[in-house]
Amino acid sequence: MSEELLENVSVDEEEVRPKKFYSLLEIRGKGTQVTKEQEEFLWKVYKYAREAHRGQKRKSGEPYFEHPYQVALILSEMNMDVITVASGMLHDVIEDTNISFQEIAEIIHPEVAQLVEGVTKISGIKFKTHEDKQADNFRKMLLNVARDIRVLIIKFADRLHNMRTIGSLNKMKQRRIALETQEIYAPLAHRLGMYKLRAELEDLILKTLDYEAYRFLKKKVRESKDSRDNYIKVFSEPLKKELAKQNISAVIKGRSKHFYSIYRKMKIRNKPFEEIYDLLAIRVIVDTVEQCYAVLGSVHKIFTPVMERFKDYIASHKANYYQSLHTTVYGPGGKVVEIQIRTREMDHIAEEGIAAHWKYKEGKSNDIDKYVVWLRDLVEMLKTDSINSREFMEALKIDLFKDEIFVFTPMGDLVRLPVGSTPIDFAFEIHTEVGYGCIGAKVDGKMVSLNTQLKSGQKIEIITSDAKKPSYAWLKIAKTSKALTAIKKWIKNNQKQDSIQLGREILEKENRKNRTLHFLAEVEKRFAELGYDNLDNLLADVGEGELSTNRLHEKLFAAEEEQQPEGFLTASLNRLTRRTNHGIKVHGVKNMMIKFAQCCHPIPGDPIIGFISRGRGVIIHTNDCNNIPALVGKNERLIDVEWDVDKQQIFASNIKITGQERRNLLADITKITSETNTNIIQIEGNVDDTINHINLVIEVSNLRHLDKVISKLRRLQGIISVERK
Ligand code: MN
Repeated sequence: MSEELLENVSVDEEEVRPKKFYSLLEIRGKGTQVTKEQEEFLWKVYKYAREAHRGQKRKSGEPYFEHPYQVALILSEMNMDVITVASGMLHDVIEDTNISFQEIAEIIHPEVAQLVEGVTKISGIKFKTHEDKQADNFRKMLLNVARDIRVLIIKFADRLHNMRTIGSLNKMKQRRIALETQEIYAPLAHRLGMYKLRAELEDLILKTLDYEAYRFLKKKVRESKDSRDNYIKVFSEPLKKELAKQNISAVIKGRSKHFYSIYRKMKIRNKPFEEIYDLLAIRVIVDTVEQCYAVLGSVHKIFTPVMERFKDYIASHKANYYQSLHTTVYGPGGKVVEIQIRTREMDHIAEEGIAAHWKYKEGKSNDIDKYVVWLRDLVEMLKTDSINSREFMEALKIDLFKDEIFVFTPMGDLVRLPVGSTPIDFAFEIHTEVGYGCIGAKVDGKMVSLNTQLKSGQKIEIITSDAKKPSYAWLKIAKTSKALTAIKKWIKNNQKQDSIQLGREILEKENRKNRTLHFLAEVEKRFAELGYDNLDNLLADVGEGELSTNRLHEKLFAAEEEQQPEGFLTASLNRLTRRTNHGIKVHGVKNMMIKFAQCCHPIPGDPIIGFISRGRGVIIHTNDCNNIPALVGKNERLIDVEWDVDKQQIFASNIKITGQERRNLLADITKITSETNTNIIQIEGNVDDTINHINLVIEVSNLRHLDKVISKLRRLQGIISVERK
């Protein structure tokens, strides 16, 4: 550890260090003991954290410091580096006390400050809906994790201790936290190879969500312990004898699968405990890789393999870096026994996953980067604007829960894909450009259709063409988030390019009609004034019919008071918004004439701002309305306004729906909308190719009402997107 770490450490002679503090140092594994200066550093952090949380209590009534202390203890047990253990002790101080990032950076250590801030950012923000909140939390988490994976490991330790102590919360909270742990943290732990952590989390989830089942399994496993131990002994004896002949010393262990995995197997296979439990798993641990294969040979010599093939995860490890040889044999008494053979290091990595690398590689190795390649892919995806919270969560779940197949390129390179993948996924996995150009595929030399499901061991060849043509149909065929994101991006870009081109043609035609006006030249100069950040967006709006040439004409060439920012609007919407004059309080001014902007259609719940127009009263826009930048130059005419709505009041809202064309789509949309007690003012649809674009104008009372309708619509079959306009 560097010397700067010690700069601010003054040795405190007066306080005798408690046993508890020494536990932090003692539980660490071999080769990871702390030096004297690291001990001084941790003692300083210990006192600092204890002081920071002084007086605070947990729900259970114990001092709050117990929680961060236990988190640090978990991290120390995982053999994490001293900086991470220190950060665990301080992980809640930015959020729960008035200590700042700067203070931690200056008094403790800049790296610790950064980790603590990373952990805080994950949990600190409030969102509108549960789904958004969850999605956004994970976005934040992944973005931080991409910078330093230790943020995630601290968060895991935090979650583990919270799950261990979940009993002191009320039932509702217990359930919510357990479900979140089940949906995200346990699969993430699996993806990062952290078997031990995942097993404990899953058992605690089971204990919380189905206590009866948990108690039943615990009792059964305990009762069967003697016969299990006995069986392992009978199994081991001939194997040990055989290995001794070859001078191999092996540790043979057999332990019960964790409760949740027995539970899951019972549920999936619908079988009683005894039958599931019959599948005994035995682990053989040796020193070298050569010995692993020697053990495999001996096992097959003594016991009959159930299948001819065994799985070699040493030659090609799983995506989470798990390595082992797997085989299944008929053991003594004809029992089916699963055997895992691996080295000590492989065993440690199989238990601790990514966290193990801090022990072996001091946390700086490329291995850690490899672990998170998929994470970085996800983060790349987050940066594309074409993805909403729901799509993000779906992509995340695909990546977390997938089982894998292994296929090969024509050159013999190995490619990992989720089960169910098609040649399209393979093509995008090779390269985005190969994906875009894919027009056909050969599997083991034979032409197959693009929706063929690939199987392990196949050799795949992609046939490409320069004429790229990804289509909506591909979204149904592709399985990986990488392929799905790339296809969506292509479709979106291409649509936009078409719209821009069309918009340009429309304006050129207008130029030809009226040679004195120079439409194109004007918009090229004045797009910002019209509320656009760039010319392409304006042209795209013209191309998509969002901005008519008449409207543009008015905006460009009419007198100032006609320059109100107004987007495209339907006639009926116009009527309704004129009717709605109330519902707004203007600061300091009474009886102002109110009009709602027709570019952004604000509804109660939206943050809003007023714009005083000459002769037309106050026009209400949403705070993030695209037209606001155009008004900024006229700052003195912006005014603070607030919602002030009656219960009965209703507002018009415009929703844009994109969906696969199918029978009864419009009817289903109408039905589902009516079910939420929502009036439909207008519904219009047009089909291009196989995609239906629907414009829906409804009456809502506020943002919550609108969100409810939108989320119901999103669940309809064949819907691609539902956006507020
Ligand atoms: Mn915490």
